[in-house]
Amino acid sequence: MKKIKKILITAVLLLSLTVVFITPAQAATGAPKNIIIMVGDGMGFNQVLAADYYLYGKAGANPFGDFPVQLAMSTNSLGDDPGPGDDAAQVYSPTLYGRFDEWCTNVTESSAAATALSTGEKCANPSIAVAPDGRLLRHMSEDFEEIGKSTGVVTSVPITHATPAGFVAHNAKRSAYADIAREMILSSAADVILGCGHPLYNDDNTLVEEPNYGYIPEDLWIDMADGEIMGADANGDGSPDPWTFIETKEQFEALLAGPVPDRVLGVAQVYQTLQCLRVVDDWSKPAYTTPFNTGVPTLETMTKGALRVLSKNPNGFFLMVEGGAQDWAGHYNQPGRLIEEQEDFYNTVQAVIDWVEANSSWDETLLIVTADHETGLLSGAEGILSPVVNNGKGVMPTMYFHVGTTYGIPWHSNQLVPFYAKGAGAELFLAVADQYDPYRGWYLDNTELSVVIRELCGIKNTKWQDVLAAKKLGLVPVGLENYADGITREDFCRLAYELLHRVAGTEIIAPVFPTDMDPFTDYTAYVSYKVFTLYKLGIIKGVSDNRFAPDKILTREEAATILGRIAEHLNVQIPSTRVSFNDASSISPWAADAVGDMAALGIMTGTGGGNFSPRAPYTGYQAILTMLRMYNAAK
Ligand SMILES: [Zn+2]
Repeated sequence: MKKIKKILITAVLLLSLTVVFITPAQAATGAPKNIIIMVGDGMGFNQVLAADYYLYGKAGANPFGDFPVQLAMSTNSLGDDPGPGDDAAQVYSPTLYGRFDEWCTNVTESSAAATALSTGEKCANPSIAVAPDGRLLRHMSEDFEEIGKSTGVVTSVPITHATPAGFVAHNAKRSAYADIAREMILSSAADVILGCGHPLYNDDNTLVEEPNYGYIPEDLWIDMADGEIMGADANGDGSPDPWTFIETKEQFEALLAGPVPDRVLGVAQVYQTLQCLRVVDDWSKPAYTTPFNTGVPTLETMTKGALRVLSKNPNGFFLMVEGGAQDWAGHYNQPGRLIEEQEDFYNTVQAVIDWVEANSSWDETLLIVTADHETGLLSGAEGILSPVVNNGKGVMPTMYFHVGTTYGIPWHSNQLVPFYAKGAGAELFLAVADQYDPYRGWYLDNTELSVVIRELCGIKNTKWQDVLAAKKLGLVPVGLENYADGITREDFCRLAYELLHRVAGTEIIAPVFPTDMDPFTDYTAYVSYKVFTLYKLGIIKGVSDNRFAPDKILTREEAATILGRIAEHLNVQIPSTRVSFNDASSISPWAADAVGDMAALGIMTGTGGGNFSPRAPYTGYQAILTMLRMYNAAK
């Protein structure tokens, strides 16, 4: 029973500080036991399409092509050099779709992208889980260690490179490899770290005369090389736990059968990438024409080994697997190597799927396949907006890179990247992905991945489950966005219309598409029939001078008034109990009854501290939640 002791000790300490502490027992029901995130570094939509065409002759035949959740994701970071406290990320904008300048300036680096995925917060490009003001950002892996799960990272590039480091370490500079190695190996509670960065080998899996300690410092290497190095406490018993160190192909393959160590640090006998940078003179040749390095494991083998080590923990695990070298192929504009790397990544995804189905289940494991950003601005022949072109299975697709070494233009792009999920809680991503891109459809931001996972695991309740429940009931109209901000009168009416429609089970009244928007002089939008219907039912009224003021933000007491009329229309029984708010005297007389009724129903609660805050804006999230509660009260 790993980690239980640590939980108890930590719980006692935290309770004495009266901090709310979450144990696994408090985690949400249906919480995933195992969480696996697979990141194709630089894997945009066209990288997936190119590999699908080459490997299968058609789109979507890859191992994740049938996942039930398929979305897009935005990746923008805080930029290269934000000032302290500057947290205004450049935001992805669908309206600038396909503009070269928009896509290729101020792009994220892998370090900031991994930070966003792992911590839920944006940072500057050179940083790994450190905010511009120096604050250390908390990784999901730290949360998972605290609730007793094992954690690990696997990559096809150096173990200290941006993505694996971005899920474990904290450093203002991603290039501080020695310090990052020390944190990952000597200080972190990770249980598995597998990848490249071997100081004694080159990219061709050949011994070098002079060691290269670029990714792992010499002092650490000397300690690792005898097969064991002491790390920090990983299993929660309060004492340091040694790493079993492996490096040969045979040692990696030995993880696939028989007993495995509790903690494994593996560095394959190659410097930067398992395969991508081998025989550099050859690398513009077509895929699969240059023999592979033979003395290194595949990403698939490393991942299968990691799963065997991590799944020893009965509390479950968190694993990040990076196909790291798609990005390198993109940087150097090498289509052949890109296809090879995509195939290794696909094989690894398939191995994880097979592991879930043989050793776990989709009810207890959540699998996410996504990317940190796109690399190379890959497209077809018709410019940057065109998809790569299928030339049949086994034939290179028609594909062009538009940034990278060939062009002397830095390499990543701001395009949305693909996002796939399957398994325990995956559908919650459908609620969080509330922004719409005309080309790629619904998308989430990379900071929202950890929001969903933390909510599913009971680490932090962000209430997205409520939004998902309301969406499933059909209560949330398409296009309602920005749930955190004040809701407009028009959007509130659209929500209210859906509620009445769903409760009635049919159209409330025959839709009216009025040619004259009697009685409002300022309202002619296409959806006006919803507003007009609510007006006809006596549920909404104008503001003054025959105006509806569709864009005006609704206050809490205005919302209560409209909700009161909806409750009356639906014959919802109002309890006679009254809630006394501290700020009751500031509620407008015309709203007082409705506020009292909604509070008695539990449909609108206060804003904290015993207050109702009548003039505060009513947020989109609160509006959805109240519609959900009203729906349940009316049913
Ligand atoms: Zn990257």
